[in-house]
Amino acid sequence: MPGTRPLTSCRTSTKKRGATISLTPIPLRIIALTQERNSLFEYPLERLAGIIRDIGFRCTSCAKCCTRSFNGHVFLLDRDVREVKEIEPEALEPAPGPEFCDQNGVFYVSGYALRVQDDEAGSCWFLQDGRCRIYDRRFAICRIYPYMLHREPDQEGVVDWRQFSGLEHHGEYDAEIPDEESMTIAREVKEYENAFLMQEIRFLEYIQDYFTKNKLRHVQKIYDDRLRAFRKGAEITVKVFFDDSLEEHRLRLP
Ligand code: SF4
Repeated sequence: MPGTRPLTSCRTSTKKRGATISLTPIPLRIIALTQERNSLFEYPLERLAGIIRDIGFRCTSCAKCCTRSFNGHVFLLDRDVREVKEIEPEALEPAPGPEFCDQNGVFYVSGYALRVQDDEAGSCWFLQDGRCRIYDRRFAICRIYPYMLHREPDQEGVVDWRQFSGLEHHGEYDAEIPDEESMTIAREVKEYENAFLMQEIRFLEYIQDYFTKNKLRHVQKIYDDRLRAFRKGAEITVKVFFDDSLEEHRLRLP
């Protein structure tokens, strides 16, 4: 696939938009994610490859998918974060929508996202003149976008596999995608989704252990109060899960 896409083949994550707080106990969330992972393994590669060929998506370098206004934030896997730390560490920020807040008002989030520029569209930090300036080193989600494979509820709450992001809203369709290319894409998508689920599971396991050891607990009211204060200009502390530990950040809206 690399080399067949125009320069701005881009990607962002629709996996974590806004607050993703869940009141489901952590062990049940881990079980649900593990089941999701099992379902992912069972999902036939050929089926996804067939859908990819049927849709025939081709990037047109519109660069929409590299903007927050179109696509939410770009959530990074740990291996991507290592890469950003080498390239431009200031491009990192705690992903929005922290999952937990303890009784002391400290937030916890499962990873980093890419910072955006201060323009109307919320262009990715690395987008310049409509092109990705680190294209050869772009991140896992940027490589597979807009293909995806995870279970999501529709408007009626019916949970089914989602295979594409932003269908009909960017790029062009009905292009001929060779069998081999479609299989390569399908393989990369499954690999990405597995890595994403593994990161989420590791985060939940870590937090469960960390909260127990440090006598911490999630308090929804403090979560809501601190978030409200943050929106009004107060500083908050966010601990970001990275490489099986937590990195602390102090955040305040500009
Ligand atoms: S890193 Fe590059 S490809 Fe990925 S969202 Fe940013 S500009 Fe687009």
